[in-house]
Amino acid sequence: MSDLLPLFVNLAGRRVVLVGGGPVAAAKLVQLRAAGADVRVIAPDLHADILASGVDVARRPFAPADLDAAWFVVAAATPAVNREVAAAAEARRILVNAVDDPPNATAYLSGVVRRDGVTLAISTSGEAPGLTALLRQALDAVLPDDLGVWMDEARRLRAGWRRDGVPMADRRPLLLTALNDLYAHAAAPADGASASAVAHTTAAASASPRRRQRRAPGRLGFVSLVGAGPGDPDLMTRRAAARLRAADLVLFDALVDDRMLHLARRAQRFFVGKRAGRHALTQPEINTVMISAARRGRSVVRLKGGDPFVFGRGGEEALALAAAGVPFDVVPGVTSALGAPALAGIPVTHRGAASAFLVVSGHDVDAFEQSVGGITAEGANGVTLVVLMGVARRAELAGRLLRKGWRAALPAALVVEAGTPRQRVWRGTLNDLANRADTGVGEDDGPGLLVFGAVAAFDLSGGRDSRRDETDGNEEVVKGRHVIS
Ligand code: SAH
Repeated sequence: MSDLLPLFVNLAGRRVVLVGGGPVAAAKLVQLRAAGADVRVIAPDLHADILASGVDVARRPFAPADLDAAWFVVAAATPAVNREVAAAAEARRILVNAVDDPPNATAYLSGVVRRDGVTLAISTSGEAPGLTALLRQALDAVLPDDLGVWMDEARRLRAGWRRDGVPMADRRPLLLTALNDLYAHAAAPADGASASAVAHTTAAASASPRRRQRRAPGRLGFVSLVGAGPGDPDLMTRRAAARLRAADLVLFDALVDDRMLHLARRAQRFFVGKRAGRHALTQPEINTVMISAARRGRSVVRLKGGDPFVFGRGGEEALALAAAGVPFDVVPGVTSALGAPALAGIPVTHRGAASAFLVVSGHDVDAFEQSVGGITAEGANGVTLVVLMGVARRAELAGRLLRKGWRAALPAALVVEAGTPRQRVWRGTLNDLANRADTGVGEDDGPGLLVFGAVAAFDLSGGRDSRRDETDGNEEVVKGRHVIS
């Protein structure tokens, strides 16, 4: 096949015939109506959404004459009907899109990333919708967050250039300078994210990679204490991703997934966590590195698993930064204390089974016992106990709970490497753990946590493995919202 010509078509007010009445047709209808098309749907049976849309319909089989007044036709029926539609369209020289049926199509809808007036279209010629979806997500992630501001500026400048007859060749460098100037006085982190995106563009355009390292002299940098979520990059926040993209320096822990680090493409990335029982850097050393980098004008991300303020020493780092007069912010993350039970299908509160939850460290058994105090896991108002850093000492911890009078048959769960493809969940009782029952989890099996309480026996994960979710090719990413179309 020769190359397809990418084309954005104005269908507003134009007759488009949609052949097919099932859910696929219903989804296409939404897209066509968003494009302002004057749609007529033809099929013997029509999906309730199509009927409810109030669009013009003909409840009967397709006939070639249906295409007589059409600009465009979408075939979302059986291959046999699609073939008929394709033949009728060919005879009338109308382009036809056949959903999931490339041989019967002459036009292919593309995956689309839309943001602030910018549209990126991705096509695999109808052959790999899954790949289209992946590429769309990747492209969405690299677009600058405030593309709208860039668009406004570009529009404003262009009007002036046309008026003044500025030659095309001069416009691009002028635009880059203007976009950079948008951030000239920016110091706040939100702007910092964009500033570096602009700097990046400029550096690429001027073929001078060194330039992007340069900062205004004396400008104070910025530190973000960022929570990465429990493991899967999908579970990190958009703000976390933006901070990483803008970073010059990333200091990360063992619990952080490599794929997140890839977002920080311009940054130096240093592991500062604990591996094989040894700290790469001490806490005071980490503080010193952050502070001195910020004083040299750099954007620093201190990236931690889960939430930075849940057993992550984020509080200590915030205090050190404040004492040094370094501006910083905190980007919350999905803590494993809540994310891991949820991914394992365990609701930490549940009407009739638990009305509170307590998150404690199992690092020190005496401290653990003190933290648990006199709470009870029993009854409708019981407390769910979530124990971090306690997998290795689970037998002793369970023993302490038994000594407190907790019921031997109380449900217990162990969730390991939640949110990663290696996630494992063991369910049993307090007694099982106290008696060192085989949970299938060894000492060096990645991070795990314990859950004690009636809810630990629940599995409300829905049976669907969200870690292996695949989106089809028809999903649009629209500025942080996912619209299935
Ligand atoms: N700040 C982190 C916790 C750091 S303490 C957060 O909010 O999640 C480290 C402990 O977190 C580990 O010992 C383990 O108990 C727990 N943990 C971290 N990631 C985990 C994961 N993916 N699955 C299960 N437990 C996890």
